[in-house]
Amino acid sequence: MIDNVSYVGSAGISAWIVSAPAGLILIDTGMAAYAPQLEASIRRLGFRLSDVRIILISHAHFNHAGALARIRADSGASLMASAPETYALEHGVYAGSEDRRDWDFPPVHVDGTIADGGVVALGGVRLTAMITPGHTAGCTNYLLPVRDAGRRHTAFFFGSASVAANRLVGHPQYPWIVADYRRTYAPLKAVDADVLLAPHAEFFDLAGKRARLGKPGANPFIVPGELRRLAAQTAAARKPEG
Ligand SMILES: [Zn+2]
Repeated sequence: MIDNVSYVGSAGISAWIVSAPAGLILIDTGMAAYAPQLEASIRRLGFRLSDVRIILISHAHFNHAGALARIRADSGASLMASAPETYALEHGVYAGSEDRRDWDFPPVHVDGTIADGGVVALGGVRLTAMITPGHTAGCTNYLLPVRDAGRRHTAFFFGSASVAANRLVGHPQYPWIVADYRRTYAPLKAVDADVLLAPHAEFFDLAGKRARLGKPGANPFIVPGELRRLAAQTAAARKPEG
């Protein structure tokens, strides 16, 4: 899509390959059943599965983390996650909705934790973590410097900030969830990134941009202000009473 970033997700749920001379970084995996297609997509790019050295995860929900265990086992890569996501990943549960067995996913061992502002480096490729609690307690975004047509840009792998199925009142997903949501939007709006890469395809018009890729004109994935607009929309859609 841009520079060393490739899309390996499904039509609706994103997964990304960031390539470095020393190997690959995979960000998110999709649902458990998607694992074979994800592995096929990586091979179709001309890589071996064993080229994947590091796996990162935006947040520990079954629709993004479901295939982690299989991909980690098949590739031999190390999984890095923020500390608050580790319990859900290692138990294969939806934090705060452990009673919803249909939201379980294959548990996966976390090989290392990443802190807010921490850097994941592979060769010369450096991803910087930004943790924005709310959607989950350790929801993690990643910033990556990219180049296109000789210019520098910043890609932002957005972790999600929507309320989704989270309970905010009654039996809240985690007791401080509403305070976390309140804190999450301002930092997102302040991020200086012009390539938005979001966990769900419709959040950033993946299909429309893909159709324009390779046509004359600027790379369609470079859209200054798109992240700020999405953060503002998501903040407006927040319904703390629901
Ligand atoms: Zn989610």
